Amino acid sequence: MNVEQRTVYLTESAQNTILGSLRTSVQHRLEQGGSLLACESQSPPLIVVAVPTGPNADQGYAHLETDAHYQNTAIAAIRRTFPNLTYVGDWHIHPMHLPFLSSTDMETAGKLLTETTPARSHVDLLLGTPGHNGDELLLGFRVSLMPRYGLWMEPLQLAVVPDDDAVVINRLKQSVPPLERLLNPGPTTTAAPVVIPPETSARIERDLQEVRSRLHAETKLQMLSCGTLAAHIVRGGHEVSVVFPPEYPMGAPLVLSGQLQSGPLTPIPLRYGWSSLHRLTDVVEEGLRAGDGDPPITWVHRLFRTRKRRLTCSSPTIQSSGGSL
Ligand SMILES: [Zn+2]
Repeated sequence: MNVEQRTVYLTESAQNTILGSLRTSVQHRLEQGGSLLACESQSPPLIVVAVPTGPNADQGYAHLETDAHYQNTAIAAIRRTFPNLTYVGDWHIHPMHLPFLSSTDMETAGKLLTETTPARSHVDLLLGTPGHNGDELLLGFRVSLMPRYGLWMEPLQLAVVPDDDAVVINRLKQSVPPLERLLNPGPTTTAAPVVIPPETSARIERDLQEVRSRLHAETKLQMLSCGTLAAHIVRGGHEVSVVFPPEYPMGAPLVLSGQLQSGPLTPIPLRYGWSSLHRLTDVVEEGLRAGDGDPPITWVHRLFRTRKRRLTCSSPTIQSSGGSL
């Protein structure tokens, strides 16, 4: 069996985010975790940013539900600086010495591969945990979905590179700015003329074509006064509005269910870290259905009721249905 470890580059700042969280996790006995954004245009991939846990994550000693709204907002903000970064997996902390993925971690990875990022063949998971001697361990794992074997886990060799390393400059055309600046890139300038890249408008047109053919809905695309593209989608008596960010499809669309004229408009929360591999049709379908059922939950209530992804660690057993490592 080939036991050569795969290498993944990791920026120093991403490493520092995780190790900083490890220290506070151990201190407060709470798990932390978030999304990993990487540049995968060349091999080995370069993990650039570890998105912080977020203020509304549900944290415990041995469980964590990430704050999906915070994660999606942070990913969209970071992609304004680096549109070529992709969601590749998650990082999390075991506050007790557990230097391996739990069975629940593997279950979560399986869900990521089958539900959240079905077009990906693997996800990369980084795990921070204290060592035996008060030292800090940062471990990497790749979990793949093998057609005949199910989930397959292999350890990753992490090669930490400075934020201004040649590898970083080569791929990002600049060094990694401080995390604060990535998360708050400031308002986009409104003075410049708005240019929608042809690949963005082509993708939007393709996605709306799929909405028309699969959902049997009517669509109308228009440019808002701020230079943002938005679509109005109608099926029967139900309406959905979609606002496309400039970095779409890398950035998540804002999907609102409800009558555009009379309201109320209800945001449809995304259940996952959005990536260009996701399908607009799925979210629009949810929005059209939202008008079918129960009376609408109020706008504000629904906005803050973001669904969360589980990153739970209850059992410290390794479950790799693929075989021995
Ligand atoms: Zn875990």
